[in-house]
Amino acid sequence: MLGGGQLGRMFTEAAQRLGYRVVVLEPSEPCPAGLLADEHLVADYDHTEALNRLGEMCEAASYEFEAVPAQAVEYLRDRITVRPDAQPLSVAQSRLAEKHFAAEHTPATPPVPYQPIEEAAQIPAALEQVGSPCILKTDRLGYDGKGQAVVESPADAEAAFSRFGNVSCVLERRLDLQQEVSVIVARDCEHSVAYPVAENEHRNGILHCSRAPANISGVVQEQVQDSARKIADALDYHGVLAVEYFITSAGVFFNEMAPRPHNSGHYTLDACVASQFEQQARILCGLPLGAPTQHTPAVMINLLGDLWNSREPDWALLQGDPSVRLHLYGKKEARPGRKMGHLCVLDPDPDVAYARACSLYEELSA
Ligand code: ADP
Ligand code: MG
Repeated sequence: MLGGGQLGRMFTEAAQRLGYRVVVLEPSEPCPAGLLADEHLVADYDHTEALNRLGEMCEAASYEFEAVPAQAVEYLRDRITVRPDAQPLSVAQSRLAEKHFAAEHTPATPPVPYQPIEEAAQIPAALEQVGSPCILKTDRLGYDGKGQAVVESPADAEAAFSRFGNVSCVLERRLDLQQEVSVIVARDCEHSVAYPVAENEHRNGILHCSRAPANISGVVQEQVQDSARKIADALDYHGVLAVEYFITSAGVFFNEMAPRPHNSGHYTLDACVASQFEQQARILCGLPLGAPTQHTPAVMINLLGDLWNSREPDWALLQGDPSVRLHLYGKKEARPGRKMGHLCVLDPDPDVAYARACSLYEELSA
């Protein structure tokens, strides 16, 4: 596994449970995945010797973040199985490429109107075309709302473009969102399955809460699942793919995708027959797909470092409630915005699960 964060950690747990051994390549030590892995190679992702070592020890490799250097993936795929492959990775690494891909392959759920920005001179015409207000986003390396700015005028957009270092960007219309949803698709060489759609709430650009199933009609649920599976098919994707959609009064729009398990799919650990991480391990190892069937409605809430506030939250507040599952990622240092863990509340009534998750979170934050 290239990358040693919480996604790598949950993959490691799933793979080990299936009887596999896991090597993690990650420069920082200690790291959440390295603490559990059979071996932690402490080196940069593009360190040739470390990649050689990984190639010798492992039969297959994957990555837990899309900013993984393309040359590391290229280097490994000449030696061992790497999933997902370099081509779908390159699409998911670029907002422009993924929007273009969605426009072509899933016109029923098109991307939000957008224009590429390569240089400041393109901004006035692009703003005109897209319509105000807009969001300027860097083409690459954005996450958790970073590398984004809401802009109303050419001057705003030019200032943001220069703040981002004049890198390639996309200017897109800022929509009035009714709901945000996402779906996890697992696809092997022959089949794909989609999980129930999750409904997401963000705070400060970071995912706060996901509830599954989403509070959407069966028609929209199917539309979203079909679109995401079409994208996976068109990419000839082998692995776990997450796709985010916006729901507005004008219909459903593609937002972005991630070539890996996703924070909004953490509920699958507690509420589904096979989790998104188990699917990742199965696909990597050539096993048949597991069942994405959800057995209980679930609400996941992220536990960010902000909650620590100089001391660890009082987990006893959760431990008395048998419907709550707590997941901590083994990070020693809590920083604002840092994902330290999550909780998942299960209840046959989704509204009860949601209310309970919100009130437990309030208590933890008090
Ligand atoms: P990332 O998740 O990589 O930080 P996103 O493009 O998903 O970037 O944007 C983060 C959040 O910002 C979205 O989940 C949504 O809440 C908001 N957002 C992004 N683009 C738009 C848009 N075009 N219109 C309205 N809200 C948006
Ligand atoms: Mg997003």
